[in-house]
Amino acid sequence: MKVLVINCGSSSLKFQLIDPVTEEVAAKGLCERIGINGSMISYTPAGGSKIKKEVPMENHTDAIRLVIDALTNEETGVVKDLSEIDAVGHRLVHGAEEFACATLVTPEVKAAIEKCCDLAPLHNPANLIGIEACEKLMPGIPQAGIFDTAFHQTMPEEAYVYGIPYEYYKKYKVRRYGFHGTSHDYVSERAAAMLGKAREDVKVIVCHLGNGSSISAVKNGKCVDTSMGMTPIEGLIMGTRCGDIDAGVIEFIAKKENMNIDQIMKMLNKESGALGISDGFSSDFRDLEDAFLDGTSEDATRAMKAFAYRVAKYIGSYVAAMNGVDAICFTAGVGENSPILRTMICNDYLSNYLGITLNEELNALRGKEVDIATPESKTRVLVIPTNEELAIARSVYQLVK
Ligand code: AMP
Repeated sequence: MKVLVINCGSSSLKFQLIDPVTEEVAAKGLCERIGINGSMISYTPAGGSKIKKEVPMENHTDAIRLVIDALTNEETGVVKDLSEIDAVGHRLVHGAEEFACATLVTPEVKAAIEKCCDLAPLHNPANLIGIEACEKLMPGIPQAGIFDTAFHQTMPEEAYVYGIPYEYYKKYKVRRYGFHGTSHDYVSERAAAMLGKAREDVKVIVCHLGNGSSISAVKNGKCVDTSMGMTPIEGLIMGTRCGDIDAGVIEFIAKKENMNIDQIMKMLNKESGALGISDGFSSDFRDLEDAFLDGTSEDATRAMKAFAYRVAKYIGSYVAAMNGVDAICFTAGVGENSPILRTMICNDYLSNYLGITLNEELNALRGKEVDIATPESKTRVLVIPTNEELAIARSVYQLVK
């Protein structure tokens, strides 16, 4: 069984060919600068080295054609022909209330995805283009959509409703949806396995901390709250996104700086978060962490502390939302790789009321699933490398097997 997992952005396309049963990755790669000068494809077959070349790609159909050529290449390919690919799984950003689980693509499903474009105007159209390109070049191979929002569809109304006139929900479905759902689903499932319990019997908080960051409260296998909202700007402080903010700040700055709504949104999405708080020092947590540890930058220190504080504050609110917690899980670029941030979050804020103590030797390990709390710790602290591509491949397998 082989599933081709595709993640289409407006000018990029990431792919992996995965066996969802053995979990082996046969090949992976990336097409960049689609529709722009200097388009590149990089391709790495399992056990082989990365092949990177500049090839013109006018659109996503060209990119998919090159992906198929790479996968079936006589020397470096990993399949003889397309008949060895059983299904394609597309990572889709916004499924709104239309999609609560992985879904096989049909004309009706495509129409429903199109309906969600309003809510994710940068992402959903690119995702749809990817689906259509695959339909054209891989006829007869089932295509499935896996939505970033789907896992959070179990949130109760009190968690997803905004404190604004209800008519905007009725007219436009303005509500909280949440993102990174595939990762929250995968990590919370792994957490239950690491705790040696059924998913239905555990309460876990998943901290997906990367360039974009979100937290979720997962009770008995179902998401009951998550920090991102109708769009991915709500919640935690991120690399360049502001996270939660007083709406009054928007009006204040707009008037003072004579900015329109597009300029304000650009500032909040691209110039804020850790980058903004560090006064432009960096949005990259490696840079921030190094300068913080060296004590060389007050700006980096401010960003690190604000980031850790916001994560801890959300954890506290989710303990309340679930009336308890069995494990705090860390995942994604920062969550998996930054022992110092895990220490700041756990030691400075969670040690008393959650009774958490960390084993610093285990906390220093990288790249594997590990429980970093001491045996005496009253709450477990788990580091779980996320694997969204594998989670997508598994969901597709469940649909088509
Ligand atoms: P992601 O969006 O999940 O790919 O995560 C990207 C973020 O993870 C960037 O801010 C990276 O700087 C951060 N990151 C990756 N490795 C490390 C590390 N060793 N220490 C701290 N942050 C890291």
